[in-house]
Parts: sequence; C-alpha cells; structure tokens
Amino acid sequence: MTQGKGLIFDIQGFSVHDGPGCRSLVFLSGCPLRCGWCSNPEGQELRQRVMYRTSKCNYFNRNCRRCISSCPYNAVVKTGVVEQPITIDVSKCNQCGHFECTKACIYEALALAGKWMTVGELMEIIRRDMKFWGDGGGVTFTGGEPFHQHEFLLEVLKTCKAEFIHTSIETSAYVHTEKFLNLLQSVDVVFTDIKHMEPEMHLKGTGVRNDIILKNIRALAATDWPGLLVIRIPIIEGYNDTDENITATAEFLKEINLDIVNILPFHCMGDSKYKQLGIQYKYSDHTGPSLEKMKHVQKIFLEHNIGCFIGSNTPF
Ligand code: SF4
Ligand code: SF4
Repeated sequence: MTQGKGLIFDIQGFSVHDGPGCRSLVFLSGCPLRCGWCSNPEGQELRQRVMYRTSKCNYFNRNCRRCISSCPYNAVVKTGVVEQPITIDVSKCNQCGHFECTKACIYEALALAGKWMTVGELMEIIRRDMKFWGDGGGVTFTGGEPFHQHEFLLEVLKTCKAEFIHTSIETSAYVHTEKFLNLLQSVDVVFTDIKHMEPEMHLKGTGVRNDIILKNIRALAATDWPGLLVIRIPIIEGYNDTDENITATAEFLKEINLDIVNILPFHCMGDSKYKQLGIQYKYSDHTGPSLEKMKHVQKIFLEHNIGCFIGSNTPF
C-alpha cells in the first residue's frame, strides 16, 4: 500500500460471471505470475501504465505533436509509420512518475491505466454500485492478483463484511498460506485457477511453480471455511489441454473433496491491450479451443464425478 492507498486499474459494473448475481468488479494491480496468455497485461505490475490507442491519435490528421514535446525524458518518439505514429521508449519511460505525456494528449490517445485510491474512495464506489446489484449480488476483487496488495485488500474486505456486502475474489493462490487462509475468512466465494498440474509446465506457462498454489487450495479445502471454492481452468490448446493433465487435475480435486470446476476457453481479447502497451503478445495468433474440445474436457471431469461448467454457463 502507498500511503494507505491501493492501485486499481479498472472497475466494472454489471458482471454476471464472477460470483452470484449482478456484481461490481474491482481490478487490483500487481501479480507475481506472468502467464503468457494473460488478458490484463496493464494490471501485471504494481505501477501505473501509459497506454496508447492509435485509433485516437491525431499526429497526422491534425499535426499533433503535444506528447513528444511534453516528455522530459524524450521517451516519446515519432516512428514515421502511419499505423502507429508515435512510440514510447519503455526504458526511458520508466523514469517518470508524472505522466506529462498523458496530460498533454487532449485526444485521449495516451491514457493512464491505474489509479491510486484510498479504502474510503473505493468503498464509496462500491456503495454507489450497490443499488444496481439487485438481490444476491456483490463485489468481486480480481486483477492482477488481489493478494499483491494484501493490506489494502484486507481493509476493504473487512469494511465490506461489516456492511454485509457479499464478496468474491479471483486469485492465483500464489501467496503465503497463512495470509491466504486468514484473508479468505472475510470472503464468501473464492475462484482460483489450476493452470497446470505438472510443476515444470506450470513454471513454463506462468513463470512460477505450482507447489504453493496446490498447497493453498488443499489447505483451504480442508478448513471449515463456510464459503464456496470454485476451481477454474483456462483451457489453453497445446499447453494444458491434454487428457493426462485434465485427468491429473480431476484426481487432485477428488482427493481433496472438491466437486466443482469451471473450464474457460482461452480467448485473445487482451490482444489490443498489448498493442496499446507496446509489448509483444505471445498468444496473439492463438485461437481458442473448439466447443468439441471443451466438451471433451468436461467429460473427463464428469467421469470423475466433478460438476464441470463451461465458460460463463455457470450457476455462480
Ligand atoms: S510517462 Fe513520463 S517518461 Fe514516460 S513517456 Fe510519458 S512523460 Fe515521458
Ligand atoms: S498527443 Fe496524443 S494525439 Fe497528439 S500525437 Fe501524441 S498521442 Fe497522438
């Protein structure tokens, strides 16, 4: 937390796929994983990010050069390319905390992802949204990895609990076990991924091994915590969609007495965000798995007596 504040890179309303009922989604910045397929790259680091939307840029239309002259580090450079008139030299850009370029861009082609907020400021937005949730809704904390801003999150969760606001969290579970179990006492529904059962493959796909993640899932499943734990698996063709890996996941869930899984087909909707950040997206030419493939994966779970929901077709 920076002076009692948390970094939030997005807040969305009216979600019906991230917990029961209609919900507000709060995206917290910072994540210890680096999944190649991540659809929220602007939230991976615990810092504000400059994003560049070429479609809004008036470099050629109106001869705008405002961002170039505004940067004290000469990090904004012209490219001479019509499709992308300017680019930001990331190595130089990292030196600046004032984001003069985004202030200079009156056309909103350069915009800042991420806003530092106090618990009170975030709670004000959550309370404002409450009237749109209807019965059974609430707030879901996602990211990034919400635990990355543990102190801030804990304070927000405690405030929600005190105000009887239903809470869900989407977490990688890559966090110290004690912190994980303690914080979740203030949460009603937990969604956590198992991206691969094999430690080396997990490391290859996400940048970290899965030991802590599996340990935490096992630990939470063994407690008397009264909430709902839903395991999610992003199905990435050529990475984790083999029968062997899906069977190993099903066996793990059976072993720890979990009976629900939600499988999510990979989509490359994050593609434009990578372009806006000026970074390479490893998965830009990947297509998602076919429905046939998803049903095949579902069948394996069902054969293990594990309820398996595909995509957003869930009761939660
Ligand atoms: S964020 Fe700062 S250093 Fe980076 S391009 Fe903008 S003005 Fe320059
Ligand atoms: S200030 Fe904005 S509109 Fe102007 S050149 Fe820079 S990015 Fe494009």
